[in-house]
Amino acid sequence: MSDVRNVIIIGSGPAGYTAALYTARASLKPLVFEGAVTAGGALMNTTDVENFPGFQNGIMGPELMDNMRAQAERFGAELVPDDIVSVDLTGEIKTVTDTAGTVHRAKAVIVATGSQHRKLGLPNEDALSGRGVSWCATCDGFFFKDQDIAVIGGGDTAMEEATFLSRFAKSVTVVHRRDTLRASKAMQERAFGDPKITFVWDSEIAEIQGDPKLSGLKLRNVKTSELSDLPVTGLFIAIGHDPRTELFKGQLDLDEEGYLKVNAPSTRTNLTGVFGAGDVVDHTYRQAITAAGTGCSAALDAERYLAALA
Ligand code: FAD
Repeated sequence: MSDVRNVIIIGSGPAGYTAALYTARASLKPLVFEGAVTAGGALMNTTDVENFPGFQNGIMGPELMDNMRAQAERFGAELVPDDIVSVDLTGEIKTVTDTAGTVHRAKAVIVATGSQHRKLGLPNEDALSGRGVSWCATCDGFFFKDQDIAVIGGGDTAMEEATFLSRFAKSVTVVHRRDTLRASKAMQERAFGDPKITFVWDSEIAEIQGDPKLSGLKLRNVKTSELSDLPVTGLFIAIGHDPRTELFKGQLDLDEEGYLKVNAPSTRTNLTGVFGAGDVVDHTYRQAITAAGTGCSAALDAERYLAALA
């Protein structure tokens, strides 16, 4: 049986690495499970990040994450590129199990597993991520000044992204597979009233085209199967996110969309000694800086919790 650690962190995006940095600098020797295939989190799949403070000329996503990783490691965080496959967080000593079946024990656990943006599942989607294809208008809208953009989706997020993007874009075309929107009335009205936004109803994307950058979409009408071309240089996919909370079901309280519930403004979950940070908690802001911010809060909450135990 392994020693009982002070703190185990599950996840290695901005939230996990920031929690690792803070707990390492507090001499808590954190053990961090980074994930087997996606160490570094969502920003490993993007190019320029221009809105993380401190980088005047922007920074590439993977470089930013490498820097965060190295900074945490410098202060003694132990980083393991593996997945946690099961947890028992209910007792005073928490246990997490890795893919080899090894059980690791700790007095506190920080959950920073992020959330997965839903994909269309089309060829080219990943290859053109950061090269015209995006999942975040706040992050990338600025890159699309005076360009023709498509937004796919029909919910509140899609309408919010479309109206936000219309500030920069020459035109925004919302592609939706039904003939009505799911978005709230207020969001719909704002989008319908925006002269730059047009709608293509009953349609889905059949093909994402371009090499090395997005150059257009092939659309398919779901009622008639008719194909049409939509020349765009930006595609924003707004069809939802899935918080990575499967592991914690039945132990940690989740909201109706599966996000981890915390006792805000703290990062405390329903179980003592377990804290949540980053996009696994947040369905509102979903930014690297907000994830890093709550990673810091979770580290400080864990530090205080451990100090009170001593
Ligand atoms: P994530 O970054 O998602 O990291 C979660 C980590 O948890 C992953 O490393 C995963 O491997 C790990 N994990 C999950 N389950 C387990 C498990 N069972 N065991 C071990 N590890 C596990 N934001 C900006 O501010 N600016 C931008 O320019 C920007 N661009 C973006 C571009 C793209 C393409 C995407 C997808 C997002 C972008 N974002 C941007 C949003 C930003 O990336 C996220 O808000 C941020 O990464 C969330 O951080 P996080 O630490 O909560 O989660």
